[in-house]
Order: sequence, then structure tokens, then C-alpha cells
Amino acid sequence: MERFSMTIGGQAVAASRAYAVINPASGEAFAQVPAGEVAHLDAAVAAARAAFPTWSRTADSERQALVHALAGLLETNMPELMQLVTKETGKPLGGLNGVGAGMEVGGAIAWTHVTADLELPVEVIQDNAEARIEVHRKPLGVVGSITPWNWPLMIAIWHIMPALRAGNTVVLKPSELTPAATLRFGELANSVLPSGVLNVISAEREAGVGEAMASHPGIDKIVFTGSTPTGRRIMASAAGNLKRLTLELGGNDAGIVLPDVDLKEVAGKLFAVTFHNNGQTCACLKRLYVHDSIYEPLCQELARLARAAVVGDGLHEGTQLGPVQNDQQRNYVSELVEDARAHGARVLSGGRARPGAGYFYAPTVLADVTDGMRVVDEEQFGPVLPVIRYSDIDEVIRRANDNPNGLGGSIWSQDLAKAAQLALRLECGSAWINEHGAIQPDAPFGGVKQSGIGVEFGHYGLEEYTSIQTLKIMKS
Ligand code: NAD
Repeated sequence: MERFSMTIGGQAVAASRAYAVINPASGEAFAQVPAGEVAHLDAAVAAARAAFPTWSRTADSERQALVHALAGLLETNMPELMQLVTKETGKPLGGLNGVGAGMEVGGAIAWTHVTADLELPVEVIQDNAEARIEVHRKPLGVVGSITPWNWPLMIAIWHIMPALRAGNTVVLKPSELTPAATLRFGELANSVLPSGVLNVISAEREAGVGEAMASHPGIDKIVFTGSTPTGRRIMASAAGNLKRLTLELGGNDAGIVLPDVDLKEVAGKLFAVTFHNNGQTCACLKRLYVHDSIYEPLCQELARLARAAVVGDGLHEGTQLGPVQNDQQRNYVSELVEDARAHGARVLSGGRARPGAGYFYAPTVLADVTDGMRVVDEEQFGPVLPVIRYSDIDEVIRRANDNPNGLGGSIWSQDLAKAAQLALRLECGSAWINEHGAIQPDAPFGGVKQSGIGVEFGHYGLEEYTSIQTLKIMKS
């Protein structure tokens, strides 16, 4: 059994109790982590506050070098971190279309380097005989980071690196379901960062540590990635000291396929952007609208790909899709599929949990589904694709937008100019043409409507970890 510690004020910290982390491929425990409590959070916040004055005044070049050094640690320890990510999330080491633990750790390395290289230059608004006005970007203080279970290490890195780069200190709490790789990263990072700059604590949900972070007077900003209901609760709790917030929340991304596509080629791409990581990615394609003229053949091709996918333990070579991360999520996915079936959906592939050990669910393609069915209106966050028929383009844009979420959306067509015009009509933070969910460390990413507040990545994301100070120097 592997064991991990919390990192608080530069120390490896245990709690009075440990709890088990489950490998969803077997349903069995593979690691023990500390069952932290609010007292550990208080200690972590105190350590982060104590470290802030020095860290925020550390020379920019030194902070930059230390962030690059963190990327080096990820690189050196990549095999171990990949194993941990696979064991705790179930995602394959390789995975469908190369989306797996290798991409998670590789992405974490790339994001860290790119973020280290970002700058926060002083902007000069006016410089004349009367006065000079400069706009400075200053760190906020202590950033509290709360992460979900689907991409635990990568999302932790997305939170930590811009926070540190801008001069903040951090207290991070991973999802209770997937704390192992993040705790390990905290242990590793402690070997290069000054004490208290990065603190990582683990806790079971019932301990209320997430809630305590959101209301903690010693935390200046919360960056949260997770579900929309939790995001709402955090926003309410954060009001006490007017915390700054970045909320990356749920998505129910629509893809719209125009009749001019190359059916075989597009089916493979659609399958990958829907089913990688078993659909457990915020910006996976989750509702597919297909033109009537190609509806049946495209559905059949997607179902063929779903039946051919290699589902199994992510540690085994060649596995494309692992289990669903937890049993509760699998039950929810199953409930949505049964609801669709009861309302007349045709199950073209899958449609059932795999019996035996682990939380497996067969990749499922549903035809003859309509808006108004739960599997279309709600975020399934699992290996299920509802395919919806349309015939009028204006009508389908309206239907795609008729959802409280607004994370991503895509248009699939050979006519790129027309597709771009349609994409701009989608109400979402990111829109893609002939692609879906593709992100990169220098392009902003975030949700509109109830998919979130603020963006991550690039200089737009970095600036969210700062406040503005305007400096006016009178010359006459
Ligand atoms: P979740 O909201 O259940 O939990 C996320 C985190 O919040 C966990 O660490 C949890 O312990 C903590 N938490 C729970 N209740 C809390 C509270 N009241 N106050 C403070 N913290 C609390 O989400 P999840 O099930 O782990 O993740 C799946 C969801 O995350 C999906 O909806 C998915 O779309 C979303 N997500 C969004 C993005 C994005 O960038 N927009 C990325 C990944 C995942």
C-alpha cells in the first residue's frame, strides 16, 4: 500500500487517521492518505501567509527559475506520477487518441514551462510633461485551490503555476477521490520551493475542508475546478471577505455536424473528442447534433467505433478507455441512459455497466434522442453520446444555446468560413471548427453562463492571480 503525506509549511504532515484511495479499475484500495481536518487547513493558511511577504518580493527571475524547476521535477518523476494518475483516476497510461496519464503529466510539464515564461509587464498609460501613469500587477496573497477528480494533477498544475508565477502562495486541496498524485507532487515541490509557498492538504468530503477554504478569512482568492452546484456554493461562502474567484465549472458542449463533411473521417474525430477519458472531461463533446441527410450512417459509424474500443485496466498496454472514476458517477450515467431508453432512444452500442470488478461502463451511442431528455439536457460526464437529428441550421444553433452551460462548442464542416460564422453564434467560452476540447497553455480557456467565471491560461489567466495598482507620478 502506498502512503503519502500532506505538505504544510515545508513539513511532511500526517493526520490522526488515514483513508484509502480506490483504484476504479479494481474497486480496491491502492494508497493511504491523511484524513486532514480544518485544523490542518488553518495551519496551511498560516504557513502560506507567513511565506507570502518574502515570496511576493522574490526577484521575478528567481520565481521564474523555480517554476521551471518544478517542471523539471515533473519530468524526472513522470513514470511514477503517470502510474499514480492511472491508479487513482482509471484513465489509461496511453489512452484513446493518446489522451491518458502520459498526456496528463506531459501537459502538466508543458503548462508549467509556458506559465514560467509569461511576464507581467508594467503598462504605461500616460507619460507626458504633466504626469506618468503606470499600471502594476501585484499578487493577491494566499490562493486556495480546489480540484476535481477527472484530471487531478494537470488541473492542480493549472492552478498552482500561475498563482506562484505571479507571486502568490498556495493552499491546495485535491478531490478526496484522487489525492495521490497531487500529494506526491507537493512532496516533490517541497524540495525546491521555500517553506510554506505551496501547501497541499488532503481530506475526506465530510471533514468540510473545501467549505472551510471557501469561507476562510486568510484566503484571498479561490480557484476552483469542479461541478456547477459546488461552484455556486463556493461563490456564496466566499462573500465574507470578497474573495477573488476563478470558477471552471461543468459543461454540456454541443457539436453540430453540417451535411458537407467526409463522414468516415469526421466520425473518428468525433468519437475521440467525445469518449477520451471516458467522457469525463469538462470540455468533451456531450451533445451531437447531426444533419438529417447523414444522421443514420454517422450514428452507425460512431456505434461501430464504440463497439471496437478497447476498454480495460488503464495499466495494461493498448487500453483505450478505462473505468468510470467512481461508482456513484457510473450509477448516474446508467440512470441517464435508462431514462433515454424509456423515452424511446435507440441504444446502438453499450447501454450497460460491465459486470465484475471495477466501475466499467460500455461506450454507449444513443440515437433518436431529443432535447428535453435528461441525457441531452444534463452533463452526463461519462462514456455516453446522445446523437440528435436536425434539419434547419438556425434552429439547431438555438437548440445548442438553449442550455445553462457555456463551456465549449464545435462546428464540423468543410466550409471553414461558414463554420466560423456559425461558431461565433454559439454561446460558449471556446468554439472549435473540426475539433473539440483542444486547449493549449497560451490561449485563454473558460466558461460563460453557468460554466464559470474567469479564464485560465496565457496572460489572461495569469492576470487573474493579480490585482491592479495604478501609480500616478506628478511631474509638474
Ligand atoms: P465536485 O464539484 O463534486 O468536486 C470538486 C472539488 O470540490 C472536490 O475537491 C471537492 O472535495 C470540493 N468540494 C465539494 N463540495 C465543496 C464545497 N461545498 N465547498 C468547497 N469545495 C467543495 O466536482 P467533481 O465531481 O470532482 O468534478 C466533475 C465536475 O467538474 C464536472 O462537472 C466537470 O465538468 C467539472 N470540470 C470543469 C472543468 C473546467 O475547466 N470547466 C474542468 C474539469 C472538470
